[in-house]
Amino acid sequence: MRVSPFCFIGSRELAMVFNPSIRYEAGCLKIDDVDIESVVNDVGTPLYVYSLKRLTANYQRIRKAFAPLSARLHFSIKANGNLDVLRALKRAGAGFDCVSGGEIYRALMAGAKGRDIVFAGVGKTRDEIRYAIHNGIGWINVENIGELEHIDSIAAEYDSDNLRVALRLNPEVTAATHPYMATGHGAAKFGLTADVIRELLRRQERYPQIDFSGIHIHIGSQLGDSEATLAALDKLLALVKPWPQIKKINLGGGLPVAYRFEETAPSLEALAEELAPRLKDYTVLLEPGRSVVADAGLLVAEVLYVKRQADQVFAVIDASMAELMRPALYGAHHEIVPLREADEESITTQVVGPVCESADVLARDRQLPPLQPGDKVALMTAGAYGMTMASNYNARPRPAEVVVAEDGMSWRVSRRRETVEDMLKGETSIRWS
Ligand SMILES: *Cc1c(COP(=O)(O)O)cnc(C)c1O
Repeated sequence: MRVSPFCFIGSRELAMVFNPSIRYEAGCLKIDDVDIESVVNDVGTPLYVYSLKRLTANYQRIRKAFAPLSARLHFSIKANGNLDVLRALKRAGAGFDCVSGGEIYRALMAGAKGRDIVFAGVGKTRDEIRYAIHNGIGWINVENIGELEHIDSIAAEYDSDNLRVALRLNPEVTAATHPYMATGHGAAKFGLTADVIRELLRRQERYPQIDFSGIHIHIGSQLGDSEATLAALDKLLALVKPWPQIKKINLGGGLPVAYRFEETAPSLEALAEELAPRLKDYTVLLEPGRSVVADAGLLVAEVLYVKRQADQVFAVIDASMAELMRPALYGAHHEIVPLREADEESITTQVVGPVCESADVLARDRQLPPLQPGDKVALMTAGAYGMTMASNYNARPRPAEVVVAEDGMSWRVSRRRETVEDMLKGETSIRWS
């Protein structure tokens, strides 16, 4: 039987540390100074738990690494829109990157000012653009000529003649990441070609309300090495060189995260060092999402059943692809560990959810101690693209979210568990029965 070197189950190395905030202590999985099981006993499962301490530390670490570029950070809300998370990041000094009117609303509700928000996205509706301008949006990242026309005419209604936009370049560079996370290749729906951007800049007087002072690229997420980023940046710099009015370069997000115990994420400092000389004449904006929140959160679930079938051991847990879609959507790997360290030898286990889809496998072929119904497990590194991608598929109420405060000790239910009544709220026929 193979025992994964990173599952130190039943050994002296039990002091397994994922990061300074998430680790075993005396056999119990803790998030900062909070025993996760004690939270679960109060709130139930499935449950997302986030460490505000860890995510602000991540934010500061990124800020420090990119200090040589004097980069301003806008947290990408699509990674995690929880209001307590957003408030903590706002206190730390972050702006926000939003990809819908709903995300702008969230940012405003978290106390952000319109000017601290960047509005991005391939298909902004007129209503969303109006909402953004009405709220004094800082920047709009533009991906369409039609969109530019809408922005210009709506800005005119508001008498705003210096609405800042950043044209988003599709650099035709393929990032080394999962195909569903790559956005910068020529065939992708994202961005504008270099030719279109040149043409727009040449004819910018057609859009009198608009200040074309920025340029944007985002070539994907979970970018493993800097090669594609630098190639894209070089194309972008060549493109904007004849236009000294362009002073702001928005490099998007995509900073990678280690999802496996044996991985370490590439150094941010090294990336910043490569970028800095190229960007010294510009002000820089970054839109990190995953790298701020992923390893600050986890999803806790309870084992419902264990069955042996077709020479496999299945542990059926009460979390599924509805609560954490990444394994089903991207084949993503999330480590899974029991909340209580066990002293037994590991066995190969398939951890699956209750949803009626063969894709509803959360962890395949994992070395885990023999699980029993009632045991609690944690899916690690689930703070980004976890809750924000959760759905009501199979009429499953979405999970609760708990945040552990920066003091490391106090925690609270930041969002209560959804109820079955919540799910029916919008259905008009409910009143007729
Ligand atoms: C998704 C996205 C981000 C955030 O990406 P991460 O990989 O989570 O850092 C930033 N900018 C844009 C335009 C995006 O679409």
